[in-house]
Amino acid sequence: MKIICIGRNYLPHIKELGHEIPTEPTFFLKPDSSVITRNRPFFLPEFSQQLEYEVELLVRIDKVGKYISEKFAHTYYHEIGLGIDFTARDLQKTCIEKGNPWEIAKAFDGSAIVSQFIEKEEFADLNNINFHLELNGETVQVGNSGDMLFSIDKIISYVSQFFTLKTGDIIFTGTPKGVGKVAINDRLEGWIENRKMFGFWVK
Ligand code: MG
Repeated sequence: MKIICIGRNYLPHIKELGHEIPTEPTFFLKPDSSVITRNRPFFLPEFSQQLEYEVELLVRIDKVGKYISEKFAHTYYHEIGLGIDFTARDLQKTCIEKGNPWEIAKAFDGSAIVSQFIEKEEFADLNNINFHLELNGETVQVGNSGDMLFSIDKIISYVSQFFTLKTGDIIFTGTPKGVGKVAINDRLEGWIENRKMFGFWVK
């Protein structure tokens, strides 16, 4: 399986990082070795002094497809989850400055927190899903899928021009504003509507 992460999909987050507004989805990949599931702890890596959380809605692909049209994209996924795209912000800044690839900042071991998944039929409207992240009991990020620049269906259509999507692939759909640093012994809990999707410790 592969993980496809959309960057720069919420305007206020683009502004907080000082990036340009994209005209097409921007994305990068994480390897399967980046995944943490079942609320296992995240071990703070030694190579970063500015390790940041980015809470994001997830989509799990359940059918193989290439050149998927936006109109049919909804038939390629049936489950929604929540995750964290952990980012070594200090390394990412250096990568951007030097024009280097982002993998050391984004695709390291443990950088993809993946929750349980919920059937999409449980949501009245996929373009109106509320989610939030709590750090040590305090809400630090709040998002609504309706604020995404590029919808789930648009993302699937765009990405599948370049990569064949396969069953089990996961798409991280981008983070809203409010990203911030984690430290050892922090507790992170993610929610979709009033459903707790994950809760784990930083070690
Ligand atoms: Mg992200």
